[in-house]
Amino acid sequence: MSETSAPRHVYGPVPSRRLGRSLGVDLVPYKTCTYDCVYCQLGRTTHLTIERRAYVDVDIVLDEIERALARDQQPDYITLAGSGEPTLDLGIGEIIAGIKGFTEVPVAVLTNGSLLWVPEVHDALMAADLVVPSLDAGDRSWFHRVNRPHPAIDFDTMLGGLEAFTRVFPGEVWLEIMLLAGTTGTPEQIASIADRVRRIRPDRVQLNTAWRPPAEASVHPVPDVRLERYASAFPGIVDIVAERPEHLSEGGGKAAIEDEDIFTLLERRPCTLEDIAEGLGAHVAEVLKRLDALRVAGRVTTSAREGRTFWIPS
Ligand code: SF4
Repeated sequence: MSETSAPRHVYGPVPSRRLGRSLGVDLVPYKTCTYDCVYCQLGRTTHLTIERRAYVDVDIVLDEIERALARDQQPDYITLAGSGEPTLDLGIGEIIAGIKGFTEVPVAVLTNGSLLWVPEVHDALMAADLVVPSLDAGDRSWFHRVNRPHPAIDFDTMLGGLEAFTRVFPGEVWLEIMLLAGTTGTPEQIASIADRVRRIRPDRVQLNTAWRPPAEASVHPVPDVRLERYASAFPGIVDIVAERPEHLSEGGGKAAIEDEDIFTLLERRPCTLEDIAEGLGAHVAEVLKRLDALRVAGRVTTSAREGRTFWIPS
């Protein structure tokens, strides 16, 4: 990788309310996922799969992470996440082990938890420091309505994997629960999800709701006051991590970005990936994929200045 070539899998560090300064690592192509959640801020899943593949080159990813660490102050976490389900990548275990070989920065994995019952996935995540899986429904019917899983994923098998993993994982498990108004954000579903949480026994529960533009327009966030009320239904430490972005209007906000939004921004001034994501209120992973396409089309290029990569019109 030359000095001016932009990283393809690593972004940030970006400020994260939960993880401090988080260096993000994206391990799968855009919207390659085992779920097609109605609330997904990246839009509908374009590649619904449970097939684990070598989506990235382990050495290239490790090289990008090492370079990012050399460039920046130490982030609080190196976070494997991004624009789909990171456990679909076959190299995830090797990547975690590789990171451990050159830095003490803790490794977090943000996963939907759908594949923790697969022995190879269970084992691969064991060396991480923090795993943040999801559980958004208390029964099979709501699981299918909210997460719209790949047909091969069974609710009870998924739950069993989550329970078994949490029981033996030496690091921390923070279970994220996305509550949606009128569907899972109801007292009945809260009671049902809380029952499941009692069996899983995570270190923390993180309640979230869909403030960012969702895949389906019918999805609405649960108001803050109600989230606070619901928090008391869950066992153990419960954090409310829902944060309504200042620039989004209540109940929705900016529509998904388009290539022209990025191009217009870059015509005004050179921007880093993080500047663009911040400026447009978009997910960095989505911006990265769009920049890649714009670069291939010859419309944008990069320029390095003082160790940072800026995007500019070609
Ligand atoms: S929210 Fe996460 S798990 Fe759900 S479809 Fe989007 S990327 Fe996949």
